[in-house]
Amino acid sequence: MGVIPVLEYHLIGERESRWSRNWERFARDLELLHARGYRPITVRQLVERRIDVAPGLSPVVITFDDASPGQFRYIAEGDSLRVDPRSAVGIWSAFAARNPEWKGRGVFCVLSGADSGHAFFGDKGIQGQRTAWRFPKLRRLVADGHELCNHTLWHANLGRMSAAGVQEQVARAQLAVDSAVPGYQMRTLALPLGIWPQDRSLLTRGSWVDARTKREVRYSIDAVLMVAGGPSRSPHDSAFDPLKIPRVQVFGDELEKLLDQLDRRGSRYVAGPRAR
Ligand SMILES: [Zn+2]
Repeated sequence: MGVIPVLEYHLIGERESRWSRNWERFARDLELLHARGYRPITVRQLVERRIDVAPGLSPVVITFDDASPGQFRYIAEGDSLRVDPRSAVGIWSAFAARNPEWKGRGVFCVLSGADSGHAFFGDKGIQGQRTAWRFPKLRRLVADGHELCNHTLWHANLGRMSAAGVQEQVARAQLAVDSAVPGYQMRTLALPLGIWPQDRSLLTRGSWVDARTKREVRYSIDAVLMVAGGPSRSPHDSAFDPLKIPRVQVFGDELEKLLDQLDRRGSRYVAGPRAR
């Protein structure tokens, strides 16, 4: 019944600031979590109560918002592509090679049509990223076991949009992901700016018709991530609300402080022996 940290990263790069994690520090965050007995699970696993970490260990959810190149950057080498070892996916993969329980299990809250390099991890040459690499990146994430999460079409302030606009924002992101990974349904949504639409029910279920193709795109969301609020309750706690999952932004020493606090209070979720 303890609490579970749902961590939130934005930019991964050289800089260290409120919205940017230095890539070496990100690598150290993974080491720290591992050393302190945490193992990653996805939001899917959290809301479906499939917390499969070994007895005595604790789950952590690691989310990445806004689909910037620093999270997943390719480097072209002749005819082949290499994942930049300084991008989050490169760091994660290297860590997973040494710690197999880290394979997959990140949660990437993506924007499909944002500008300034935030459309599926960069396009149009931003940070060397080609537009044609966007879909292969999504396919690679899914193949590796990561979860894709809907962060809307271009990070709209949903509180200022019409009902039709809200549904278009969510549905078009879903359509774009389906184009890259046929059949993939995003079931988790990260609220842009933490702002709810006036009609909250539009986040969980809705549809939008593509005027050009007349195709109707439906979506169905059953987990909503907020931008702040501290660690999450256990999904076994009756007060756990999957449509209001709080998160903790990682910057400065916030992660160390959080882990220390959970241990001091004895409030962290620790997996018990598995029932057989
Ligand atoms: Zn965002």
